Amino acid sequence: MPRIRIVLCRPSHPGNIGAAARAMKTMGLSDLRLVAPERFPAPEAGWMATNAVDVLASARIHNSLREAIGDCVAAFAMSARPREWSPQVLDVRTAAARAMSCDGDVAFVFGNETAGLTNEEMFACQFLVHIPASAEFSSLNLAQAVQVTAYELFMTNAPAVQGRSEKLATVDDIEGLYAHLEQAALSTGFMAPGSRLRERWRRLFSRVPALEREEVNILRGLLRALLGK
Ligand code: SAH
Repeated sequence: MPRIRIVLCRPSHPGNIGAAARAMKTMGLSDLRLVAPERFPAPEAGWMATNAVDVLASARIHNSLREAIGDCVAAFAMSARPREWSPQVLDVRTAAARAMSCDGDVAFVFGNETAGLTNEEMFACQFLVHIPASAEFSSLNLAQAVQVTAYELFMTNAPAVQGRSEKLATVDDIEGLYAHLEQAALSTGFMAPGSRLRERWRRLFSRVPALEREEVNILRGLLRALLGK
């Protein structure tokens, strides 16, 4: 697994540094680097970091971007603006997948709130990464851009949201239900022999992604009750 670091170049608002630390911690990241921050440490950073003050406290301060990313095997420059000349352009989701397949330290590099990344900072990286956004106003707040990026990194190998782990119905269970439905439909005169109704309920149940055995049993119990058996 690569080690991901978040690098903020010349951030001017300490509150954004704190908010970025919080964004990182919610997504399991902890390596924060600050390149020549205008004001840090600062109380506003702590206020915005809330429970992520540990990320702030361990943030490393560098004099230059080169110093912050020198030992990385890949660096991704984050920018809202397309540029005429740039390294290879990726969207943030693709970049996150790419980063997670690296073996070594990887940096996501963010620009200053007002000016963004300089050309020199961008060309110190191998990729230029956009977070897709409205064409009319695509510039996210710095910490929010960090949040989206950290989220995309997290989602590359997030455990699927755990549902209830019930026993799933087997093919035999479901065929049993179909047969039961057919028997009920025929014996009540609802379905004429040779009708295509059976395909309709197969189609219906095929759209249920994970039918549980218990759910099949409930439906069959209902059919039994309706048929008076
Ligand atoms: N006004 C600056 C943007 C500053 S926003 C400009 O025009 O460049 C601060 C930083 O957040 C940016 O430098 C960039 O690293 C990141 N960011 C904001 N919106 C982004 C987006 N849509 N895609 C990628 N990065 C973005």
